[in-house]
Amino acid sequence: MTPFDALMARAREAVDDRHLDRVRAWKQEHPGALAIGHMPIYSPRPLLEAIGCLPVAVFGGGDQIDVIRGDAYFQSYICHIPRSTIELALHGDLAPLDGMVFPAICDVIRNLGGMWKMLFPEKWSGYLDLPQNFDHQLGGAFYASELRRFARELEARGAKPLEPNALARAIAEENARRAAIFELDALRRDEPWRLRASEAYLAVRAGSAMTAVEHTELLRSILAAARARTVRKLDNVRVVVVGAFCEQPPIDLIVTLERAGCDIVADDLQLGMRMIEGPIEGETIEALARAYIDRGAATASRYIGDLVKGRALIERVRAHRAEGVVFAAASFCDPALLDQPMLETALQREGIAFTTLKYSENTGQFQTIREQAGAFSDSVKLWGGAA
Ligand code: SF4
Repeated sequence: MTPFDALMARAREAVDDRHLDRVRAWKQEHPGALAIGHMPIYSPRPLLEAIGCLPVAVFGGGDQIDVIRGDAYFQSYICHIPRSTIELALHGDLAPLDGMVFPAICDVIRNLGGMWKMLFPEKWSGYLDLPQNFDHQLGGAFYASELRRFARELEARGAKPLEPNALARAIAEENARRAAIFELDALRRDEPWRLRASEAYLAVRAGSAMTAVEHTELLRSILAAARARTVRKLDNVRVVVVGAFCEQPPIDLIVTLERAGCDIVADDLQLGMRMIEGPIEGETIEALARAYIDRGAATASRYIGDLVKGRALIERVRAHRAEGVVFAAASFCDPALLDQPMLETALQREGIAFTTLKYSENTGQFQTIREQAGAFSDSVKLWGGAA
């Protein structure tokens, strides 16, 4: 096994840890400390770390569990992640979590938060009302007050009081992680054959239940091993994947796109780790709020005026020298699917090719997707950008 393969195996093990064994081990090493889960897309992880909590990103059961009881809690025509999250919780897999953050990204997550409160009244539950007003005095002040409320509520549950030095340290550690992810993304953009999207995905998602320091160490090791490994350059089509920001596709779907001739040079998988574009400037709660207000990534759960809808995607395509876009959204994901027509219109105006597909976290058949993606990459190669 090469050093790179060994690191990938370590990342895969962390990603597949659905019983949260890592979290259980961390709690044993830190008696009395809280582990706080959070649903996608975004949660203020440095704040949680500053008060001594372990942030744990929860992405449902993926393709690892059969949903039986979870189906009874939701109607059939919604996405899969809330059912599998309830299923995991009812199985006791999420038992090490002392609380959960439910960010305001859609009605489904809000309803899941309500369900969680009813099922687990003894656990802390925080609804993170992310601002849609991007004025510092309004949305920024509101968000800062929400973050303070979280810190107060968690302190009442046993977290450490929020201290300026601890927050400054946590922000610095988060910035170091972001710098490593930025380098990872740059390597993938410049030499996608050296670090495949599926590998970058595992590297970033592996940090779901790690502190920023531990994750940064893993990312730095993966970067060094990827740069050192011998790989063959591929003649693939460069694409951006959009719409996969919440419920994650099975890793085999990402591999299928790669095998169909696509180099995924950018995507919105694991968006939570990249939600703030660039470092967080400052060391305070206000700095955290400002970073979200000023440099939160353009995504479906964030208000973007009609006139500029799609601009960020076009800029992303250009900056990554991409030749096409693959819209890949979870079935019934309202935020992604309602945004898609406006993004398609923006791409059509620019003559950028795109194709669309839907998945579920437990999709098991990839043949049709492989044929579709293969036809797309061939057509882009042959005829260029016409959608
Ligand atoms: S996949 Fe889409 S609809 Fe489902 S919870 Fe996530 S954002 Fe909401």
